[in-house]
Amino acid sequence: MTPHPTQTNTVLSQQDLLEAGLNRGPADNPPREIPRLIGMDLAALEAMLADWGEPAFRARQLHSWIYVHAVRDIEAMTNLSKGLRNRLHQDTRLGQLELVDKQISRDGTTKYLFRLQDGNVIESVWMPFQERESTSICVSTQVGCAVNCGFCATGKLGLKRHLSAAEIVEQLLYVRHDSGQPINNLVFMGQGEPLHNYDAFIEALRLINQSAELGMRHITVSTAGLVPQIRKLADEQLQLTLAVSLHAPDDDTRNRFMPINQRYPIAELMGALQYYYDQTHRRLTIEYILLAGLNDSDAHAQALGNLLETLHCNINLIPYNPIGAEYGFKRPDRLACLRFKRTLEAHSRHKVTIRLERGTDIDAACGQLANRHQAPARS
Ligand code: SAH
Ligand code: SF4
Repeated sequence: MTPHPTQTNTVLSQQDLLEAGLNRGPADNPPREIPRLIGMDLAALEAMLADWGEPAFRARQLHSWIYVHAVRDIEAMTNLSKGLRNRLHQDTRLGQLELVDKQISRDGTTKYLFRLQDGNVIESVWMPFQERESTSICVSTQVGCAVNCGFCATGKLGLKRHLSAAEIVEQLLYVRHDSGQPINNLVFMGQGEPLHNYDAFIEALRLINQSAELGMRHITVSTAGLVPQIRKLADEQLQLTLAVSLHAPDDDTRNRFMPINQRYPIAELMGALQYYYDQTHRRLTIEYILLAGLNDSDAHAQALGNLLETLHCNINLIPYNPIGAEYGFKRPDRLACLRFKRTLEAHSRHKVTIRLERGTDIDAACGQLANRHQAPARS
């Protein structure tokens, strides 16, 4: 038997310990990480199944069960052999989201609360649009958010962590399965700032696009205005829609409720948006929350029209969804919203809409996603 290394007089390096297998007692040995199928692309599935001695077409079948049919149970993959299903059961897991709560609004909007492996929770919102016979899902990209816009409930949580691409895609697949209907539109407008989690966001798009179920033209990403990432995204030349949370026509106003404006002021942001259009020729969406007494005057509407004069965009007005009186924001009344819209239309050639409100009775409307299961990251 080889002597125990610690009984020798030599000083042992970490490498020695590693070779001797001594730096990890059984208690430190983490359980073997079981591969998750959701998050693996076709090439990864092919490699895994080739390793198991399965023909290549099995990987395509498996890929289709995961990403097209969105099944939640390996047993439902009926064209795979019993032997392969057993192996998948034994050596893999499908996904990792656990449904904690599901609330259905009067208008059919459904809010899903998911627990992640590490105990954090995130929300996704599913919206059926009867009149358009279509459905839309709004997914989260982070637990909380670092950007800390004054009017946003998610911002109050602070950033806990980024989501992985698998965690982002599984929201879509889970809801696709649960609703029993195809998803026609995907919007990255849930919790978090998608462009702050750039790599996982791009990887999620790649995984979604590989299944060819949802084309880029049916995907919208909303950003608070991270200028370098907008430019980077422009260079990817994807056909998705970029929505930008502008919310003010001048720096003084924007600085009051969007701290990110100090880092990337409006002139820089507008430069990046023009660059995005030049690279992609995709019309942008400008989002503008209406906050009573702060950014909803005639002068603001006029200034907004002037600012956006040369940009190819549609403008979407979002009446503020209250998140708590303590934050000091107020929603303008309906007449004030309509007046802002009319003044803007008089000073702009762009299409202006007021966002249809959905799911307000279950706190599923824009900016209200901050589940009560999540403790704030800072006081
Ligand atoms: N972080 C990204 C995407 C998530 S927020 C972004 O900020 O764009 C999605 C949209 O909801 C943004 O336009 C955001 O400004 C808006 N929003 C946040 N809080 C809101 C609130 N209380 N009422 C109305 N819209 C809100
Ligand atoms: Fe983050 Fe968007 Fe909320 Fe701002 S509005 S805090 S960027 S999620």
